[in-house]
Amino acid sequence: MFNSSNFEDIEQFEVREDLLTRRTSILVTARKKRQIEIKNIMKSFDFQDSQFDIDKEIKKPEEFCPFCPGYENPEEIERYRFPEDKTKPWIIRSVDNKFPSVRIPKNESEEKQVKIEDPFYFRKYPYGQHEIIVETNKHDQKPAQFSLQKVTRIVQTYINRYNELMKPEKIQYVVLFKNHGLNSGASKNHPHSQIMSLDFVPSDLKQKVEIFKNNPDILLEIIKKERDSPRFCYENDTFIVITPYASFYNYHLSIIPKTKKLSISELNQKEQEDLADILRKAWKCLAIMDAPWNLVFSNAPKNVENFHFMIEILPRTTFFAGFELLTGDGICTVSPEKAAAFYQQNFKWFGRQRTIITNQENKENKD
Ligand SMILES: [Zn+2]
Repeated sequence: MFNSSNFEDIEQFEVREDLLTRRTSILVTARKKRQIEIKNIMKSFDFQDSQFDIDKEIKKPEEFCPFCPGYENPEEIERYRFPEDKTKPWIIRSVDNKFPSVRIPKNESEEKQVKIEDPFYFRKYPYGQHEIIVETNKHDQKPAQFSLQKVTRIVQTYINRYNELMKPEKIQYVVLFKNHGLNSGASKNHPHSQIMSLDFVPSDLKQKVEIFKNNPDILLEIIKKERDSPRFCYENDTFIVITPYASFYNYHLSIIPKTKKLSISELNQKEQEDLADILRKAWKCLAIMDAPWNLVFSNAPKNVENFHFMIEILPRTTFFAGFELLTGDGICTVSPEKAAAFYQQNFKWFGRQRTIITNQENKENKD
């Protein structure tokens, strides 16, 4: 008879594919000892185990933040730091995630351990690299407080890590995102982003590749249509900001490069600054809303020629319920036109405030 306790102390690490939806799921389970560490890191994770009082083993959150200067784990691998000079304190750094969802196997046998025992189902080793980009050395600093220079450095760090993680031949896709606020899935308040390389193309991206194959200029057409629409929010030399016509989330925001680019990696210095300008203003707007949000980069998979990369901000003002979970479709309670009016007004306001805020922040917040 099936007994779930048999699986209690097994570490499982594999990618599985659903036969009906063709969606991929990464299975990462951990032993109890490691769960204590995970709970320390992921305070929001609602873990319950009747036989094991995990809360007794946990350090109080304020005692421990692995992203704060002084708490760096000497064993962790630092992949990037700014400034490079290690005698100076870091301002931004990227390190291997202590609890990765994918990893590079230490040897071939580790990868082969996840073998297909049942030809009915597909499963494989979750191959890739999973890094945490710690955006600031100040625990309580909020993205809305970041200076333009700071956000530009974050964009440059994204590009550095994206290029590096895309390099190995086996890698097909690099996932880049930022969760902000507890209901967004963020496990720590300390501002950070995540970047993961994968040896497969995720389901939704495969679908996008098909859309661009059939209509390579679809985003250019959308830009043309939306520039004079009530969903227009803001534009600078490089990007246009709109709320999508069929927004999936309340206050859903799309940041689209005005010319076709495959990924964030193709942005030059000026274009990077233009992206920073938009992210910074968007983060200030989101701070007014005080809602959790996700920032996601839709870059092209490797060796795909027809693609137009874009960035989305997905505020989490409501929970996904039965309808969304069953259908994969959305229900929006704020019209994209109303959301755009909010963004348009505030983007304009933060534009006007730019000089004053930048000067003030440079004084207060020298990074
Ligand atoms: Zn911290």
